[in-house]
Amino acid sequence: MVGSSIEVIEGDITRQRVDAIVNAANPALLGGGGVDGAIHRAAGPGLLTECRTLGGCATGEAKITKGYDLPARWVIHTVGPIWRGGGQGEDALLASCYRNSLTLATRHGIRTVAFPSISTGAYGFPVARAAPIAVREIERFLAHTTAIHRVTIVCRGPDTYHAYRDAVEELAE
Ligand code: ADP
Repeated sequence: MVGSSIEVIEGDITRQRVDAIVNAANPALLGGGGVDGAIHRAAGPGLLTECRTLGGCATGEAKITKGYDLPARWVIHTVGPIWRGGGQGEDALLASCYRNSLTLATRHGIRTVAFPSISTGAYGFPVARAAPIAVREIERFLAHTTAIHRVTIVCRGPDTYHAYRDAVEELAE
């Protein structure tokens, strides 16, 4: 059934007991504000030490590290597009973040993944436009694999939560 394996919750991604959480990182992969800062704080200094060895990450791509002090065993770092008005390939780059993160997850035997709302904080992507792109891309991926059992979208705040809930419901119709 469409929508059956995507769960949308309101909460803190650093607390999720899943195999991997996804970080909305910046290209340097050296930490930052928002969800990135929260993940580095919760994971402890080992995460930054490992990130320093990765050589950064291009927009739309993804890299993986261990989870250190997080309940999650892995962190998948992906770099969302900065919103520049919508005509600079932002939609496709955002979709790539979800697709490449899930592809990397399957290569590591990861079965449960939690995503934050990539790009809709400091990077300024409108959440009403980002949510259907994210949900569609996750659904498309799940339709072609049995390796990933559950994807949770962890939303900070009610506006983000409602945008993703609406997107899941609209896709299920
Ligand atoms: P970006 O730079 O990709 O826009 P941000 O971290 O600024 O990334 O914001 C992405 C989303 O993550 C926003 O909706 C923000 O509210 C949310 N966020 C911030 N902290 C957390 C957290 N601990 N758990 C889940 N989501 C979070």
